[in-house]
Amino acid sequence: MTSNAAPGLDAVLDLLLPRRCAGCSRPGTPWCPDCAPCFAAPFPVHRPGLPPGLPVFAVGAYRGAARKAVLAAKERGRRDLLAVLAAALAAALHRLFPGPLWLVPAPSRAAASRRRGGPHMTAIAERVARLHPARVAHPLRLTRGARDSVGLSAADRAENLRGHLTVLPGALPPPRAPVVLLDDVITTGAAAAACTRALRGAGTRVRAVLACTAAG
Ligand SMILES: [Zn+2]
Repeated sequence: MTSNAAPGLDAVLDLLLPRRCAGCSRPGTPWCPDCAPCFAAPFPVHRPGLPPGLPVFAVGAYRGAARKAVLAAKERGRRDLLAVLAAALAAALHRLFPGPLWLVPAPSRAAASRRRGGPHMTAIAERVARLHPARVAHPLRLTRGARDSVGLSAADRAENLRGHLTVLPGALPPPRAPVVLLDDVITTGAAAAACTRALRGAGTRVRAVLACTAAG
């Protein structure tokens, strides 16, 4: 139940209405040349809550056009934006980790992702794997009871994850394989930290976190 799930009303409207740039609403293109530079070379992200020594990178700042692109992919199921974000992440991986990798997408709440036509980070990771020598594993799940992270404060988001994040042992990458966790936005780093600890606790070698955007 991922990409075949029924799309939400917004996604249907996106298919019917003329395409506009997700960043600036310019008609005729999903992502215009003026907005494109908001995703660029990966930069390191530092947060007190991240595990020490874990490299964390983002390719855009969580504001302006980059923020709108993430939200279009995440909340409106804009599949053309999934490709934009995947291309930015793949370009970063070419620079940072050119060799073969496993990618693990950060999880979305099941009900929310069904509404949006499938977990957006899973869809992005699968697109990245077409552009980079990588395979995708989906061992992270948010269990029932987790709230939709959209609209939650950073503190509430961390609390929401705690106790609701589970690892499916049968879905883990091979134990010694290098893994990069992919996420949409780093805020406090609590979500990336929780995912990394869960994976490492299950014996997975998380080498880095790569996010589409980092907040302020
Ligand atoms: Zn634009």
